[in-house]
Amino acid sequence: MKVFRLSNLIVLAGALALTNFTHAQQQTDYSKVEIKTTKIGDNFYTLEGSGGTISALTGPDGIFLVDSQFAPLTDKLVAALKKISDKPVRYLVNTHVHGDHTGGNENFAKLGATIFSREQLRDRLEHPRPAADGTPGNPAPEKALPVVTYDNTVVLHLNGEEVKLIPVRQAHTDGDTLVQFVKHDVLAAGDYFRSTGYPVVDLINGGTLQGILEGLAVTIGRAGPNTKIIPGHGPITDRNGLIAGRDLILAGRDKVAPLVKQGKTIEEVVESKPLAELDSKVDGATPQSAERFVRWLYTSIKEGK
Ligand SMILES: [Zn+2]
Repeated sequence: MKVFRLSNLIVLAGALALTNFTHAQQQTDYSKVEIKTTKIGDNFYTLEGSGGTISALTGPDGIFLVDSQFAPLTDKLVAALKKISDKPVRYLVNTHVHGDHTGGNENFAKLGATIFSREQLRDRLEHPRPAADGTPGNPAPEKALPVVTYDNTVVLHLNGEEVKLIPVRQAHTDGDTLVQFVKHDVLAAGDYFRSTGYPVVDLINGGTLQGILEGLAVTIGRAGPNTKIIPGHGPITDRNGLIAGRDLILAGRDKVAPLVKQGKTIEEVVESKPLAELDSKVDGATPQSAERFVRWLYTSIKEGK
C-alpha cells in the first residue's frame, strides 16, 4: 500500500510538472506575442514576451542575455534587441532547464551565441526525464546544449560590467543559477524567486524546499537597499520583495508541516486548503497555484528535503 501510494505521488508530481511547464507552450499563439523592452540602467534591459523574463546587458563587447524564452519568439526577441544594440548576442546563460527559459537556445547558438549553464541543466536538456505517463523525454537538439558548464561561480568581464554566475543548488530545479550584475546592482534570479503567484519547485527536476530557502537566503544576503531583483516571472522588485517571498514559503511550510506530522494524506491536506488565509496576500494567486504549492510542500516535508 505504501509503495502504491508513493508511486502515485510521484506520478502525480510528474503530471503536475508536465502540465505546469508545457501549459504555456500549448496555449500560446506566439504570432500574437509582443516583446516589451524595459530600460533598467545605462546599458541594461529586460525583455518580456512569453515565458521567463530575459535580462540583456548591451555594449561594445556584444550582448549578454539571461535566458532565451520559447523558440518561436527568437525572431521577435532579435528584432527587439536590434532596437537597443547593433551588436550580436555573444553570450547566453540559462537560469534553469525549463522550456520557457531555454527554448530559444538553439536559435541563439546558430546566431553565434555561446551558452553557459550549470552542469546539471545541460545534462537534463540532453537526457530529459520521461513524462508522467512514461513517454520518453525529448532531448534538446545538440546546438541548444550549453557549451560552457560550471559547478562554481563564474565571472565574466564585458561591457564594463562584472557578471557573476552563481550556482543555486537544488532550489526550483537542481541546475539553477543566480546572475549578479555587480555595477548595475541587479540580481536576476530565475524561477526560484517569482513575484507573482505562489512559489514553484519542480521536484522531478531536482528542486527542494530546503534548497529554495537556502537560495533565497543567499540572494537576500547579496541584495543591498537599492538592488533591483529580476524574478523569473513577475514584476521587478527589491530586497523586501525577496524577504516577502522567503517568508511566504516559511508560512506555507509551517501550515503544512503539522498536517504531515499528524499523518494526513496529501489529498486530505490539499482538501483542507491550509493556505486559505495566505491567498489574499499573494499577488496573482490562483487556486491551482495554491494547490501546487501545498503539494510540493507536503512532498518535500514528507521526504525531508
Ligand atoms: Zn521554471
